[in-house]
Amino acid sequence: MNRVPIGTKSGLVYKMTIENKQFDTVIGLEVHLQLKTQSKIFCGCANNFGAEANSQVCPVCLGLPGSLPVLNKKVLEYAVKIGLALNCKINSYIKFDRKNYYYPDLPKAYQISQYDFPVCYQGFVLVPQESSTVKKVGITRAHIEEDAGKLIHDNENNCSLVDYNRTGTPLLEIVTEPDLRSAQEAYDYLQILKLTLQYLDVSDCDMEKGSLRCDANISIRPVGETKLGVKTELKNMNSFRAVKAALTFEENRQTQVVKAGGKITQETRLWDEAKQMSITMRSKEEAHDYRYFPDPDLTPFQVDSSVIEQIRKSLPELPVDKWERIKKEYGLNDYDAWILVSSPEIAAFFEECAKLHTNYKNICNWISGSLMQEINSRKLSLGDLRITPRRLVELILKAEDGTLSNLVAKDVFRYALETDKSIDEIIQEKGLAQVSDSVTLEKIVDEIITQNENAVRQIKNGDEKPLGFLVGQAMKKTQGKANPKKIGEILKRRIIDA
Ligand SMILES: [Zn+2]
Repeated sequence: MNRVPIGTKSGLVYKMTIENKQFDTVIGLEVHLQLKTQSKIFCGCANNFGAEANSQVCPVCLGLPGSLPVLNKKVLEYAVKIGLALNCKINSYIKFDRKNYYYPDLPKAYQISQYDFPVCYQGFVLVPQESSTVKKVGITRAHIEEDAGKLIHDNENNCSLVDYNRTGTPLLEIVTEPDLRSAQEAYDYLQILKLTLQYLDVSDCDMEKGSLRCDANISIRPVGETKLGVKTELKNMNSFRAVKAALTFEENRQTQVVKAGGKITQETRLWDEAKQMSITMRSKEEAHDYRYFPDPDLTPFQVDSSVIEQIRKSLPELPVDKWERIKKEYGLNDYDAWILVSSPEIAAFFEECAKLHTNYKNICNWISGSLMQEINSRKLSLGDLRITPRRLVELILKAEDGTLSNLVAKDVFRYALETDKSIDEIIQEKGLAQVSDSVTLEKIVDEIITQNENAVRQIKNGDEKPLGFLVGQAMKKTQGKANPKKIGEILKRRIIDA
């Protein structure tokens, strides 16, 4: 198996640390995922991003006296769904605890979370690796909790403002075992995790909007040592690339400290994206600092196993499974299959095309080439474009049977994105059909021969190199519509065989 193209290759800095390796790196990740339910976790307020500040609040999420939380059923359903997809065991005993701390964005002065009974535990994620192997990354736990509000620092007026819209929106915190051994592995794990969550359709997974946030724990230890070293926690990374850069930086920093005879202190460090370095934020809290205790407002309850089974049955085919199946079913290589699987919509689109035409490799080339280029450059989703599997296949057939040259087919494709007209209509309207009739082609060749005496003489003298140039001239003259194969044949017959 070749390396799966789930991200850019590691940078130079990372490779350098690998080469003179005296230390192993140990990384664990914590992902906070915003679940895209319609309402918040314990009240009926809307759970949406970007509304006017403090417009989506009520006594429950503001923590006013006398208000009582009621669990949103959808949150539990999504959490179980994610847990099952991550191969977790599911706790049918659902219990919530209060995590106590004071901060201005937390109006109750405690956060409702799950302490000793996380809803999901002991799972794993399979991450395909460069070296034909699959890395198994353990999932320690995934627990439900509520989010806090948002502080906005207004430097101009020298004050801080707080927006409580996000207070009480549902989160799932997904914690890995310290199984990751490099910044690249961490990056690859995040890619697979995000893709899995996108397949489940439970979150926007948008790091820039904060709907997926990642903190990382990292430590080093001498090669061969089994005990874990002192770890630092990294925060404030707002892209997967930033996570990788922060981990690489911290790996190097810790190595330098230890090599110089120093000791690593357990602390939380903030990633500074502009400076590409991390800085100390505070020493790390322990769990007992939070004085966890069961939330008396939320009685523990038991989920029926049939409910869990029902959710299990509703799971879609997950990315790695789909990848394996698409490779087998359509005879595509690792890379091609992964491109298709990298978005659930693209994979579905491909499979619809594959029902209509059996040149799977060519369909895949069109999708991973022209189609994805348009999607990426226009920053659109597949649903925004007016191309359907049927129309793409019609176009592919026209290119395969020679009605359109490949070049012109790409133009037709771009027109097809803007209109609902059939491929035939577009070709007719734009006069784009490939010119293959010999009378017309002979006429074009006539002109080319008279206009390029030097090249013709060269060919007559036995040097066939300028043939390609002449074909190119013919294509230019016809705006790409001439059939290049036929032009080549006529040129040869007229110049060489004459
Ligand atoms: Zn509310």
